[in-house]
Amino acid sequence: MKTLFEKIYDGEIPADIVHRDEICCAFRDISPQAPTHILVTPRKAIPRIGEATPADQEILGHLLLTAGKIARDLGLAETGFRTVINHGPHGGETVPHLHVHLLGGRQLTWPPG
Ligand code: AMP
Repeated sequence: MKTLFEKIYDGEIPADIVHRDEICCAFRDISPQAPTHILVTPRKAIPRIGEATPADQEILGHLLLTAGKIARDLGLAETGFRTVINHGPHGGETVPHLHVHLLGGRQLTWPPG
């Protein structure tokens, strides 16, 4: 069965897509936690970061490079932004398909809640 994010990648569920290529797809979060909140998610349905393997190295690098490029393209690099990957219940994961949150456009606090 396809994951939610596979369905978005395949166009079966609508999303506001800001970038897509053969490895990943990036789209706006449906419930944004900052003025800019984008999810960068791989085509391959890796469930979560702690279950990625060395074979996924290129994908993982690509996700981060893509997040950085999107941040630059959207003008976030100068003021700053945050990337977040949630794993499991304590991490706050709700969708079991790996994704990098890209958050920006306001001052973010630390530590996170
Ligand atoms: P996480 O809680 O880290 O697993 O992140 C999952 C994210 O997916 C949440 O921020 C949700 O708001 C977001 N989300 C869930 N469904 C959709 C959707 N259909 N389109 C865009 N974002 C979604």
